Amino acid sequence: EIRVSPLTVTEAYGMLEGDDLVYAQPGSGYFVRVPPAEVPAATSAFAPAQTVIIQEPQQSGFCEQFTASSQLQARPDLIDFSSGFPHLGEQKDFARLARRAVSQSKDTLLRYGLPQGQPILRQQITQLLVQQGLAVAPEQLLITNGSQQGLALAMQYYLKPGDWVIVESPTYHGAIALLETLGARIVGIPMQADGINLTLLEQYLHSHRPRLIYTISTLHNPTGITTPSDHRQQLIAIANRYDCLVLEDNAYEGLHFEPVPPPLKAFDPHDRVTYVGTFSKTLMPGLRVGYLVAPEAHRQGLLRQMLLHDFHVATLSQAVVSEYLATGYYRRHLDRLRMQNRQNRDRMLQALSQHFPDGTTWTIPQGGFFLWVHLPEPFPIQRISQAALQQGVLIACGSAFFPKQQGYPALRLNFSLPPEEIVKGIAILGRLLQQHRIA
Ligand code: PMP
Repeated sequence: EIRVSPLTVTEAYGMLEGDDLVYAQPGSGYFVRVPPAEVPAATSAFAPAQTVIIQEPQQSGFCEQFTASSQLQARPDLIDFSSGFPHLGEQKDFARLARRAVSQSKDTLLRYGLPQGQPILRQQITQLLVQQGLAVAPEQLLITNGSQQGLALAMQYYLKPGDWVIVESPTYHGAIALLETLGARIVGIPMQADGINLTLLEQYLHSHRPRLIYTISTLHNPTGITTPSDHRQQLIAIANRYDCLVLEDNAYEGLHFEPVPPPLKAFDPHDRVTYVGTFSKTLMPGLRVGYLVAPEAHRQGLLRQMLLHDFHVATLSQAVVSEYLATGYYRRHLDRLRMQNRQNRDRMLQALSQHFPDGTTWTIPQGGFFLWVHLPEPFPIQRISQAALQQGVLIACGSAFFPKQQGYPALRLNFSLPPEEIVKGIAILGRLLQQHRIA
C-alpha cells in the first residue's frame, strides 16, 4: 500500500488548478476542466476564437504581478521577456543631461509647479504630436506621472461603478485592473488582424450603451497590431453614433519601424477622444513622465482631478525630459532604439521558428516591443513560467491580458533585449514547452 500525505494531494490539486487544468466546485470536489471547444487552433496569432466576455467587477492579480516582477528585474542574470520597457543598457548621456536639467530648473525645484505641467515641456510634446499627425495646442496637454496616471485620471473622472466599458480582448492588463477597481463592467471585444472587431463593437454599443471604449490603436499591447486609418475612422464614426467616449492609449508611440497612421484623436471631429502618451517606453519608466490630451469639455475637470491627486509631476523629471527633447538627443536615441528593436524582433522570430513547437504562430509587429505568441495546443503555462524562472527566464502569460484571465495558450514576449539573451531565453522556453506537452 502506498500512502500519500493529504498535504501533498492538496498541493498537487492547487498546482493543477493554477494551470487551469482542474477547477474546484465548493462542496463537490475537483473537476477536470475540459478545454472549451473554441480554444483556438493556431491558425492566427491575433484572432482568438474567444468571443465577447462580459465581466462583473472582480480583482485580477495585476498589482501583485507588477510588484513581484519589479523585484525580480533587479536580478542581474534575469532574461526578462515579461516587461514593457526598453532594455537600454547603460544610458551614457543621462547623467550629463540630468545635471543640466538640475542647473536649469533650480528655481522651479524649490516650489510647487503648475498642475498641468511645465510650459516648456508641454510646448515640446505638442511638437512631437504634430509630427505624428495630431495637431494639439499646449493648453490641451496635461503632464501626468506616466500614462498609467493618465489612464487612472480619465477612468476615475469618466466612470462610475456599474458603467459598461469596452476593451480590446486581449488588452493591457494594467487598464483591466484599473477598471476592476472602479467597479466597471468590462466587455472584451476580440482583436483581429486590423484591430477590434467593429461589427461586435457596434452590437455591444447598441445593446449595452457603454460609457467608454478603451483602445490601443497603435502597436497594441499585447499583440503589437496597428489599426489602419480606415478602421480608425469607422471606430470613431461608431462611437459618435452611440455617443460613447473613447480613451486612446498610445503608450508605444514613436517606436514604429514603418510609418503608422495618425492617432485616433486626429480623426475625432466631435472631440470625444482622450489621448494618453508616455516617455516610459522610449526613454525610461523610472522618470514617470506621461501626458494626456483632454477634450475641451473635460479639460478643467481632469486638471482638477490631477491637482487633487498629486499637485503635479516632479519638476525634475519634467526638466530631464525637456533636456532630452531640446538637445535633439531624444530623436537620435529613438532612431537607434527603433533600429535595434527591429533587429531584435527578427532575431526573436528566427529563434522562435527554431525552438518552439510546430504549429506555434505569432504576430509580426511593425514596432514596439512585443510579440504575441500563440501556442498550438493547451500548455500548463503557469507551471512552465515557474520552471522558466528557475532557469532565469521571466515571461508574461497570455491569459493575464484577457478581462477574465482564463487559461489561454499564448505568451507575450518582449524582444527589446540583447540578441544573445533572446537566443538563450527562447531556447530555454522551447525546451520547457517540449517537456510540458500535455497531449
Ligand atoms: N499603457 C500601456 C499599453 C502600457 O503597456 C503601459 C505600461 N506597460 C502603460 C500604459 C503604463 O506605463 P507608464 O505609466 O509607465 O507610462
